[in-house]
Amino acid sequence: MRVRFAPSPTGHLHIGGARTALFNWLLARRHGGTYILRIEDTDQERSRREYEVEILRSLRWMGLDWDEGPEVGGSSGPYRQMERLDHYGPYIERLLAEGKAYRCTCSAERVEEGRQQLVAQGLKPMYDRRCRDLALGPDCGEHVVRLRAPLEGTTDFSDHVRGLVQTANAELDDLVIRRSSGLPVYNFVVVIDDIEMGVSLVVRGEDHVNNTPKQVLIYQALGAPVPEFAHAPLILGPDGSRLSKRHGATSVRSYEEDGYLAEALVNYLCRLGWSHGDQEVFSLGELVQAFALSGITKAGGRWDVDKLRWLNQTWMKRVDPADLAERARPFFVAAGAPPEALDERLVPAVLTVRERAWTLVELAAAGRFYFLPDEALAWDEAAVAKHLVPAAVPLLEGLLGVLEGVSDWSVEALEEAVKAWVEAEGHKLGKIAQPVRVSLTGQATGPGLFEMLAAIGRPTALRRIAAGRDRARG
Ligand code: GLU
Repeated sequence: MRVRFAPSPTGHLHIGGARTALFNWLLARRHGGTYILRIEDTDQERSRREYEVEILRSLRWMGLDWDEGPEVGGSSGPYRQMERLDHYGPYIERLLAEGKAYRCTCSAERVEEGRQQLVAQGLKPMYDRRCRDLALGPDCGEHVVRLRAPLEGTTDFSDHVRGLVQTANAELDDLVIRRSSGLPVYNFVVVIDDIEMGVSLVVRGEDHVNNTPKQVLIYQALGAPVPEFAHAPLILGPDGSRLSKRHGATSVRSYEEDGYLAEALVNYLCRLGWSHGDQEVFSLGELVQAFALSGITKAGGRWDVDKLRWLNQTWMKRVDPADLAERARPFFVAAGAPPEALDERLVPAVLTVRERAWTLVELAAAGRFYFLPDEALAWDEAAVAKHLVPAAVPLLEGLLGVLEGVSDWSVEALEEAVKAWVEAEGHKLGKIAQPVRVSLTGQATGPGLFEMLAAIGRPTALRRIAAGRDRARG
């Protein structure tokens, strides 16, 4: 099995494209095939190298490595179409020599006139094939090359998602395959590349389904085997229309920046348009085991950000805490934490807040108080007024004394020492917890008391509780 993902570098990697990449990658990995990355950059107006770099970066972020393609090479390169221009000409010459293509000198106006005449006769607008049988030679002047498409019968392909797709040849134009500029057209180069790269299965978005009969005609004219096809349904917005920017973020990069884990996005994208019983949570490895073309649904999946958020939290709880902390680090910095403050306390701190965050942005917002300079804490004045009151002074004072005596700064040791003191003094833990929480965080809500004390570290805990006591004095 040889499959490919063929992005056009005209923008960031769109989540629809990312899903196509993922499906292809999964098939290659499941079946021991080869996954090729090809850059379709023939639209020179819109293609930019920065976008290519960005697309490669997003694919790697998702964990989708390629076996052949830019930066890794391979035996059927080059893998950028603009570097393959010399590959296409000989095929066009061959089709001309075999009479399967012809030169056409009709101007754009002339073609349009012909189309209008067909419309006037109640026929489908297409090229009226005036040059088809003129056998124009290379010296005919400015011309395009058109495919001599069959006039009768049907062009068929079988699609793993849509079944047999038949198109009446009477509906198909004599496709221009080479422009007057000498450049071959998109549908032609795709076919040549797929032939030369030995692609056996084309998996792509439904938006290409109308190109497929045109491409099949080119394979047939060249006498080349037609690959298998699978067209995955579009991703829809919550309102059922095609997902677009007005529904929110559509690039992989923006989800990365919004604090989604690659595992969650991959998991979510795969399940959108592919079903596998009731299972919702899949690692990439599990997807490799489970993925099959037969599970791709015909109907488009609707983008559901709440489900993505749920999966993201699920994955934040699944990944190794040290790994999660590393991925969260830049989000903490963006939330105002000085980079040098993000020391060995980062992992325990992250563990105390990940239950209450759905993205890394939210995780950092919930946990940044651990690392902010004391004077930068966000103070909830209502919480201060309620909890840092004179009555709390002896409690905070007493607690400070207890904490100063704790040398093993662990959750267990802290809990044991504080509970023993509370019992001995007849205090209520509930009365102490809030003044401490407000002292440490500036807020009335936060992680559990002992986890938080342990994670914030001894010096910061003692310093902030002392400052809270001073505030409580008024
Ligand atoms: N370059 C095309 C796109 O970005 C994909 C073409 C194909 O998969 O055949 O939509």
